[in-house]
Amino acid sequence: MSTKPICQSWFVTQKINDWLYLISEPHYYWWNRANLWLIKGQKQDLLLDTGLGVSSLRQHIASLIDKPLLAIASHIHFDHSGGMHEFEQRAIHAAEAKALQTGDDYEALCTAEQGWVLEEHFEQLPHADFTVTQYTLHAAEPTQVLAEGDVLDLGDRAFEVLHLPGHSPGCIGLYDSNQNLFSGDVVYDGELLDQLHCSHIPTYIQTYERLQKLPVDTVYPGHYHIFGRSRYQQIMAEYLESKRKPGCPSEQV
Ligand SMILES: [Zn+2]
Ligand SMILES: [Zn+2]
Repeated sequence: MSTKPICQSWFVTQKINDWLYLISEPHYYWWNRANLWLIKGQKQDLLLDTGLGVSSLRQHIASLIDKPLLAIASHIHFDHSGGMHEFEQRAIHAAEAKALQTGDDYEALCTAEQGWVLEEHFEQLPHADFTVTQYTLHAAEPTQVLAEGDVLDLGDRAFEVLHLPGHSPGCIGLYDSNQNLFSGDVVYDGELLDQLHCSHIPTYIQTYERLQKLPVDTVYPGHYHIFGRSRYQQIMAEYLESKRKPGCPSEQV
């Protein structure tokens, strides 16, 4: 049995501005800790990503919800999709809808063999019975399947769904007319993962070449801190530069 402490509260919430909250899981190790974004709209709210699913996110955010809520997975990986089953309205890109529907641990990167869910990553435990060996992605039938160009209209603001594959086939971003980009695991200010079984570097490069042309004011990423236009461009330029070196995979396609 683990001797780790049981945490008082698994989540923390930070109000970013009038329409946006950031929820995170501080007892899970920083490197893979996801940003869960609650976007408040006039007629509907969005929750972009749902964390590990080891404690009730629905209960945690209940006091902030006063209208219909759509939970969206930026992609299927367990650090983003773990809590999807808790929400009545659930959306994910078509390329990963089946994986969510079936609770596909392999696509979610959470089988024991893949070694992504490890005891040492939990500084405190979400509850007394928690063990990493029992960790699994809960199956949840999507109620909405997302595609490039879909518009999520919250009344006072609307987001366009951008299909941004490369890290995984079903990665999406959300983009609004104020040039806010919710980027999931596609762009963040940390080590980018493009060597997973589900990753495809030439596709990642194409996604970045597309995103370089997208006017962006603020990036709300799937991991780490919020950043602005210049860092956004710099991250992508550095990635593309590294992949264009002779001998790198992009040279061989
Ligand atoms: Zn991911
Ligand atoms: Zn992630």
